[in-house]
Amino acid sequence: MTAELQHTLAKSAGFSGTSLHTGEKVTLKLQPAPIDHGIKFKRKDLADEPTIDANIANLKTVERATTIGEGAVRVHTVEHVLSALSAMGVDNAIIEMDANEPPIGDGSAAPYVEVIKKAGTAAQEAPRRFFDVREPIHVESKSGSLLVLLPDEKFRVSCTQAGPNNRFTQFFSGEISPALYEREIAPARTFVFYEEVASLMEKNLIKGGSLENAIVVRGDAVLSKEPLRFADEFARHKILDIIGDLALIGTRIRGHVIAVKPGHAANAELARAIVKQHAKVTALSVPRTFPPGEGGLDINQVMEILPHRFPFLMVDRILGFEGETKCTGMKTVTVNEPFFAGHFPGHPVMPGVLQVEAMAQVASILLMKLAKSASRIGYFMSADEVKFRKPVFPGDTLFIHAELIKARSNRLAKAHCSCVVNDAVVSEGDLMFTFLDK
Ligand SMILES: [Zn+2]
Repeated sequence: MTAELQHTLAKSAGFSGTSLHTGEKVTLKLQPAPIDHGIKFKRKDLADEPTIDANIANLKTVERATTIGEGAVRVHTVEHVLSALSAMGVDNAIIEMDANEPPIGDGSAAPYVEVIKKAGTAAQEAPRRFFDVREPIHVESKSGSLLVLLPDEKFRVSCTQAGPNNRFTQFFSGEISPALYEREIAPARTFVFYEEVASLMEKNLIKGGSLENAIVVRGDAVLSKEPLRFADEFARHKILDIIGDLALIGTRIRGHVIAVKPGHAANAELARAIVKQHAKVTALSVPRTFPPGEGGLDINQVMEILPHRFPFLMVDRILGFEGETKCTGMKTVTVNEPFFAGHFPGHPVMPGVLQVEAMAQVASILLMKLAKSASRIGYFMSADEVKFRKPVFPGDTLFIHAELIKARSNRLAKAHCSCVVNDAVVSEGDLMFTFLDK
């Protein structure tokens, strides 16, 4: 299986329109961005042109639309443009705007799909990051939203939408490919039930709202400039919003979202739950199912690669690699380790610095595999954010994870590493390496 690559835009493209909440004119421009940049908003109308990372950690409010912010800077109604970028396969981009909100267009994501197609997409030399759902995650809100995320090989969304008193109950389900998104999801417009509009107007939340950019439902009547684009347009728009809100997790999802009466608050709650689970899984996973080519290394192979020998060889074997960026090794810590005698007499604990050494050894194996060359040697330069969380005792099995998080100009590389015992992280840190020819 070849790894999916990250993508950005081939060139910049944009369009102008009205913002929904303020009613002001806004010009939006999508710009290409480098590997691992993610999606960021840039406020061109403010001094110093601050950027805001499209990340769930920056979520501010979820009333009717999703607002993110950093410091005092805000961007409102981010979900439609994020939805289009995510579903159309753009991992890295800058969204430049000269206002605090993207143009609402016709209330759908179709204008964004058009802009993305105008810009085109380009593959980048780094694998995409995925959250693979391993166990169900669910969130439920008092207002009746229910979201369940189940394991799946693809990203699928199934949605049941129901209005007040279950009016306009609709269902839509699909695997979110760029083609399906462009055809079946992106054209679905924003809708609002009349009984909700009055309060929004009071709160000044929809100054730019009109039948040009939203469907209004009053009783059983659908009021809009053009007829419904799909009989189940509301369920489709809810899926559009779910994709946009979940884009805030910063990785793609392999899983099936089953949503009943979703809303921005519940979507955001699911995004938070995913991020929490992702952090846990990344730290704990002991990969056992590597496809051929990413298999492990036994002690002899490890010693062919590493110059270290007893008592300074801190890896018994490599369990396997995952893509080009991850590697897991293990070490059985026995009572015969020479350091236990003095650290400490009567109370043997593995020194933390030796756990860092184990991380460095696993990370350097990963980097050497990546460099595909034995003529260069990686030097351990620095360690940041090192934390020792739990003691390691004789008899423990240490699982050592290394993930490449940054590589620059073939000379510098940074890896996030952790040691895990009994499914708990005992130590972790970011290790920096430099490469020199032997
Ligand atoms: Zn929406």
